[in-house]
Amino acid sequence: MSCFEPGGEMRARMAPRAPGVTPIEFRNGARVKAADVPPQGLYRPNDNILTPNMRSPEYVQMSTAAAITLGVMGGRMHRTSCTRCLNLLLTYPEGCRANCAYCGLARHREAERDYADRNFIRVDWPAVPLAQTIDIVAKDGAESAFHRMCISMITHPRSDEDTRTVLKAWTDRIDPKAIPVSILSNPTTMTREDVARLKDLGADIFTVAIDAATPEIFDRTRGKGVQSPHSWAHYWEILMAAREIFGPQKFGAHIIVGMGETEYDVLTLVQKLVDLGGHSHMFCFFPEKGSLMDHLPATPRDQWRRVQLARYLIDYQGGRVEKMRFDESGRVVDYGVSDSAVETIVGEGIAFRTSGCPGKFRDDVSACDRPYGDSPPSNVASYPFQPNGNDLRKIRRQLRIAEKA
Ligand code: SF4
Repeated sequence: MSCFEPGGEMRARMAPRAPGVTPIEFRNGARVKAADVPPQGLYRPNDNILTPNMRSPEYVQMSTAAAITLGVMGGRMHRTSCTRCLNLLLTYPEGCRANCAYCGLARHREAERDYADRNFIRVDWPAVPLAQTIDIVAKDGAESAFHRMCISMITHPRSDEDTRTVLKAWTDRIDPKAIPVSILSNPTTMTREDVARLKDLGADIFTVAIDAATPEIFDRTRGKGVQSPHSWAHYWEILMAAREIFGPQKFGAHIIVGMGETEYDVLTLVQKLVDLGGHSHMFCFFPEKGSLMDHLPATPRDQWRRVQLARYLIDYQGGRVEKMRFDESGRVVDYGVSDSAVETIVGEGIAFRTSGCPGKFRDDVSACDRPYGDSPPSNVASYPFQPNGNDLRKIRRQLRIAEKA
């Protein structure tokens, strides 16, 4: 429980809709399995054609940005030409069996849209044969645009075994020192031994998508509150196993900012992760179309920028949450460092870039840049590139920091 009671009002405002009942004929990918259309190479999400019967490990999905960067799909992105992270999402006709309220992949969408057609972090995820994906990256060698690969598990009975198969297929052809691999885990189906096996197979970083900053919000958005199987306690058990097995700086947690927690709540969690030796990877809440939270407001930019800045100070600059000051609503009013230190960090702009596992530029610049995964390009939340002078002026306005004359 936060010590800032006004957060209670905010939590109430950010309540998800209740999931509806899915008719039996739409459950578990029944429509896709009955049609049984064989996949033929790249599949781009399209509601007007029958979704092929694809499953991992033969097929994986990847973000639109990754498919453009890999060269299997044409397209242009606003102010950026590529992503540095090849994110591979496991795919099955049955889809993810969890029901997280903010997620476009959630189970409650079974009747509305086949799994491989669902939007996720605001974009489409084309499906590509794994062998073709690995061939392209292996052929590109040192020329590859990718600085990192990440396997995104989902909640599915085959997810653990298929993650190992995908990881092994990758490391058989691609040196994990050249393009290291992260695991975005699904703790619900995992044991400590599963975590250890992924390390033994060459995974570099292990992350847990805690997503919710407090146990109450976790339960409400991805546990019993939405008929979803996840438990806060088990997520922490797997995170602590990853801490021991992967070691300092090699584990972390995803957190979504703006689901009803206070800034104090989220920064306390960021501090806890740093004190354990890990990192936090932040997402700005965006009402994903078709999700149980699609009627709710995106995180106000002033709140998001304060959390980004404070998180960067804690994760990379030795800042401490105990030195920061918060108002009666749990908002940051003092970052616990000098004004000139704040000015230096704001001016550098890195704090406002997408956060995630590092690439080859520097430790505090994420390979996982997720272009427009948490905002439209017209009102960027996480910058997938270095913010320029105009961007920094906007960021300062959002932070209510006056520009230096
Ligand atoms: S477990 Fe992950 S993929 Fe599945 S519904 Fe929850 S957030 Fe989405």
